[in-house]
Amino acid sequence: MLKLGHPTNIGYTELTAQLTALAKKYSLEIKSIGASLLGRQLWTVRLGQGTKSIYLSGAYHGNEWLTAAVLLHFINAYLEALEKGALFWGVNLAQLSTQVSLWITPMVNPDGVTLVREGLNEIPSQYRSTLWRWNYGNNNFRYWKANIRGVDLNRQFQADWHKAYLNGPKLPAPKYFAGESPESEPESRAVAQFTRKLIPEMVIAYHSQGEVIYWNYKKKAPPTARRIARELSRLSGYTLIGSNPQEAGSGGFKDWFIDHYQRPGFTIEIGRGINPLPLQQFDRIWRQNAPLLAHLGTFFR
Ligand SMILES: [Zn+2]
Repeated sequence: MLKLGHPTNIGYTELTAQLTALAKKYSLEIKSIGASLLGRQLWTVRLGQGTKSIYLSGAYHGNEWLTAAVLLHFINAYLEALEKGALFWGVNLAQLSTQVSLWITPMVNPDGVTLVREGLNEIPSQYRSTLWRWNYGNNNFRYWKANIRGVDLNRQFQADWHKAYLNGPKLPAPKYFAGESPESEPESRAVAQFTRKLIPEMVIAYHSQGEVIYWNYKKKAPPTARRIARELSRLSGYTLIGSNPQEAGSGGFKDWFIDHYQRPGFTIEIGRGINPLPLQQFDRIWRQNAPLLAHLGTFFR
C-alpha cells in the first residue's frame, strides 16, 4: 500500500515526490508540459491508453491548491483500482482505460501555490520586495491567486481576454490582473499549447470554492455539454451554472476551450468557504468528486 501521507497537504514538493512514487509503483507516464517562471515543472500524467482524451487541470490559483490534492488522490485511486481489477465507483476501468485517456495537470501554478503555503521564504530574494508591494505591503499571502509575476492565470486565455484586461487591475496584483497579453505567462501558455496539441474531447478545470459547476460560455457549448453537465451534477451533488455571472470579460481556460473547439468544458468549484479551504473539507470534497471523476471517460467510450 502506497503511503500518501496526509492526502490533503499537497504543495509542489509533495506533488513531485508523490507522483514520482506512483510512477515507480505503477506504469505511469509523467511528463512536464512546461515550467513556471521560477522553474517548477507543470507535471502531467496520463491515465489509460485510449485514443480519446480528456484533459483535467487544477491549482490555477495559488490559494486553491486543495484542487491539486483532489487530482493527486484521484490518480492514486485510479491506479490502485486498475491494478486490483476492482470496479471504480461502478466503472470497469480495465475496459475504459483502453478506450479513454485522462491527461491530468494537478498544479498549473506551482509558484503561486508555494507563495501561499510558504510565504516569501521560498521565493528568490530578488522577487520579495516587489511581491510584498503587489500584496499591498502584507506578509500574509493566503489570499494570493496569481502567478509570481502577479498575473491571474485564469484570465490569460483567448476568450474575451481584452474585456478581462479592461475590467481588472492594470498592474500585477494578488488576483484578476489578466497580464499584458493573452498567454503571456509560461504557465498559461504551456496549458494552452498542450491543449492545442492534444485537442481533447472535453476539459475539466478545477477551482475552489462554491460546490458549483460552470458548463457554458456565451451559449457556445455543444448540445452534449448540457447532458454531461447534468450527469456531473448528479454524481457530485454540485449545482449547475450556465455562464459565470461575473463574466467581467473572461480569459478563462474552459471558456477559451468551449469557444475555440465547441466541445464540452467545465469549471468545477470544490468546497465551501474562504480559500485556502480548511483541510478538514477534503473528505467531503473527495466523496463528491471521486464518482464524478471516475465516470468522466464513460461519456466518450
Ligand atoms: Zn480559481
